[in-house]
Amino acid sequence: MKPAMLENFENLREESMVAMRQAQKNGTKVVGIYCTYCPRELVLAAGAIPVGLCGTREAPIPMAEKDLPRNLCPLIKSSYGFAITEQCPFFLISDLVIGETTCDGKKKMFEVLRSKGIKPLYVMHLPQVPDESSSLELWYEELKKLKSYLETTFQVQITDEALREAIHITNEESRALQELFDLNKVKPALISGLDMLSVSWQVGFLADRREGIKLLDSLTAEIKEKAAAGYCVGDSSTPRILLTGTPVGIGSEKVISLVEACGGLVVAMENCGGYKTVELRVDESSQSDPLRLLAEKYMKIPCSVMTPNRRRMDLIKRMAHDFQIDGVIDLTWQGCHTYNIESYFIAEVVKNDLNLPFLQLETDYSQSDLETLRVRIEALLEMI
Ligand code: SF4
Ligand code: SF4
Repeated sequence: MKPAMLENFENLREESMVAMRQAQKNGTKVVGIYCTYCPRELVLAAGAIPVGLCGTREAPIPMAEKDLPRNLCPLIKSSYGFAITEQCPFFLISDLVIGETTCDGKKKMFEVLRSKGIKPLYVMHLPQVPDESSSLELWYEELKKLKSYLETTFQVQITDEALREAIHITNEESRALQELFDLNKVKPALISGLDMLSVSWQVGFLADRREGIKLLDSLTAEIKEKAAAGYCVGDSSTPRILLTGTPVGIGSEKVISLVEACGGLVVAMENCGGYKTVELRVDESSQSDPLRLLAEKYMKIPCSVMTPNRRRMDLIKRMAHDFQIDGVIDLTWQGCHTYNIESYFIAEVVKNDLNLPFLQLETDYSQSDLETLRVRIEALLEMI
């Protein structure tokens, strides 16, 4: 039987909406964010609640296509569609939204969204050559500017003390998520890819981050206890897949569902929402300027918008070893040039360095290609 704690995550998003509305009535601000590069510690230190607004569902895409090109990444179209159709309650209650100049599609979408004037929109300038010292300086300045914008807009002062507390909470959240993900380093695995996704996605909507950390720790403890009594997911012959590539959420989980319906298991996810950032923690014992420490942390995120993006290859190699991976799937949303092109290097690493079967899947949020995807995934699993 599945861990009972999993049930606590099922409706977190809806429950959180109620808590967020209440907090807002009591004067707490809500800040919508679109990307892992958004320094959520600054939002927390301003006394506000950060909430992810990345679109993971197909429903609002037709409306988005009235303003945006059809051959744009579905994540961008879905995010924009939710914003303009008022279908996303979290967008609706956001006091302001923060974007970053990540990929071309997102930054140009933000221009169109800003022109609609629906919400105050603040866009950070993200440098994209991560190892240049000038990039760190630029990003540090961007963090300073965001800090000052939040202070002025919300009429608060973001003290170093508040920032250090926010850093601690965010570190703890990453620690709790990593401990959950790391359960699957054993063979057979202990949590399915779909459950892992659902938990990490739902918990991101919680108004109270400490509550999320407690829930994650309780789930991990329960799974460990069950494992000691023989519980596992699949068996030692179940193909173990590492999913990398573009972000996935509930509504855009079709590749994970198909892998698991075909008899495999997504035991680890490298993408945003998965392992990409959980190891990136700020050193809480450092006496350095906390804003600079944050800038350093965020510059290390291995996203394909960075060039070169060697940290992603290193992470994939390490994860393939640690999670005893049998095959790698690189997911690319249609229209995502950065992940699509970077797949060339991922294929090299997986085939040549790791000597593992590799599959790149390019798809969108529709269900129209399910059969094609199934055939390709079955072929990969047969190679294992
Ligand atoms: S994949 Fe890159 S651009 Fe997209 S949410 Fe993650 S960090 Fe941001
Ligand atoms: S998946 Fe690719 S195109 Fe879409 S928002 Fe992320 S980086 Fe941009």
